[in-house]
Amino acid sequence: MAYKFATKAIHAGQEADPTTGAVMTPIYQTSTYKQVSPGDHKGFEYSRGTNPTRKALEDCLAALENGKFGLAFASGMAATDTVLRLLKPGDEVITGDDLYGGSYRIFTKVYAQYGIKFVFVNTSDVGQVEDAVTERTRLIWVETPTNPTLKLADIEAIGKVARKSNLLYVVDNTFASPYLQNPLDLGADIVMHSATKYLNGHSDVVMGALILNNEELYKQLWFYYNACGGTPGPQDAFLVLRGLKTLHVRMRAHCENGRKVAEFLKDHPKVEKIYWPGFSDHPDHEVAQRQMRDFGGMVSIVLRDADLHETFRIASDFKVFTLAESLGGVESLINHPATMTHGSIPKEAREKVGVVDNLLRLSVGIEDAEDLLEDLRLVLGDK
Ligand SMILES: *Cc1c(COP(=O)(O)O)cnc(C)c1O
Repeated sequence: MAYKFATKAIHAGQEADPTTGAVMTPIYQTSTYKQVSPGDHKGFEYSRGTNPTRKALEDCLAALENGKFGLAFASGMAATDTVLRLLKPGDEVITGDDLYGGSYRIFTKVYAQYGIKFVFVNTSDVGQVEDAVTERTRLIWVETPTNPTLKLADIEAIGKVARKSNLLYVVDNTFASPYLQNPLDLGADIVMHSATKYLNGHSDVVMGALILNNEELYKQLWFYYNACGGTPGPQDAFLVLRGLKTLHVRMRAHCENGRKVAEFLKDHPKVEKIYWPGFSDHPDHEVAQRQMRDFGGMVSIVLRDADLHETFRIASDFKVFTLAESLGGVESLINHPATMTHGSIPKEAREKVGVVDNLLRLSVGIEDAEDLLEDLRLVLGDK
C-alpha cells in the first residue's frame, strides 16, 4: 500500500519480530547465522553482506526516497566510495564546484590517481553541465542544496542531460533529506545520503546510504558493498532506524526555526551576506520552490568587516549554538567552513565559490526559537 511519509518513516521495513513479538526491530548483534544444511538458511549468512537490523533500515530508507532498494554504509563517504567503484580509468565525472569537502577530497585525492577525471562546474547552471559532457563522461554527481553556500541544482533538468547521454546520475540529498525532496522522482538514478546528518538526526552515529530503483545497478553496488565491506553494524542501524521515526517532525521544526533565524539575520548590521533558499531574492529560489517542500534548517552568513580573528571570536561566543562540524542534529551547531568542514579544499578553489574566511554556517536545531534568536542577539548585537 502507498502510505504517506510519516507512516513510512515509522513503519516501513519493520514488522513485529516473528519469534518474540517485539514491536521494535531488535539489534541483531550477530556476525553469522545458523544453516540447517549448507546453503539452507533464512536469507542471512554473514553480517558484512546482510543483517536483519540493517535490512529493516535499508527498506525504510528506500521507502522514504520512493526507491526500491536501499544500502546502508559505515559512513556517507563509504557510500560515495562504493558508487565511484563503478568507474574505470579514463572515465569522466561531472560534478559541482561547491561540494562537501570530503566528496571533493575522495574525488581529487583518491579516485583521480586511478585515472578518473573530475570536471567541476556550477551545477546551478544546467548549460554548464551539458557543455561538460564528452564521450568519456560516465557519471554526473550533484549536491543540492550545496554546502555551505546553499546553491541549488535543478534536479529534473540535469536528469534530462544525464538521460540524453546515457549517464549515471547521482544526487547527494544529505542537506534536504527525503522529507524535503526526492531526487529519484525527478530523474536521479541513485540518491546518496550521509545518514549522519538529518536522517539519524541526533549526532550520535556516522552512517551513509544509497537508494535506487534499478535492480541491475543495485546488484552491482551490492557486490562492492559486500566485497569491500564498508557496511555498518546493527547497533548503529538500530539508532538510525529509531531516528527516522521522527524525521518528519524534526524536519518541520528545523524548517520553522531555520526561517526565523534566517529572517533575523537578514539585514542584520553584522551580516554582509546571507544564504538561505527561502528568500525570494535567492538566485535559485524558484528552483527551491519547485523541487523542495520547504527550505530546510541550514543558513550561512558572511560577517561584515570581520577578519579571521574576529570571525573565530564570534563563532566561539555562542551559548546555545555549539561550535562543531556536522549538521542535521536536533541541537544547533555553528561551523567555520574555511578551516573546519572545507579545510581540505585549497584556499583559491574555496574562495572562488564563496567559502571565504568570514563565512559561518549554521545548522539550526529544534530548540526554542526564542532562545536561538537571543543567542544570536547576544553575540551579534540587536538589529
Ligand atoms: C557529511 C556529508 C557527507 C559525508 O558523510 P559522512 O557520513 O560524514 O561520511 C557527504 N555529503 C554531504 C553533503 C555531507 O554533509
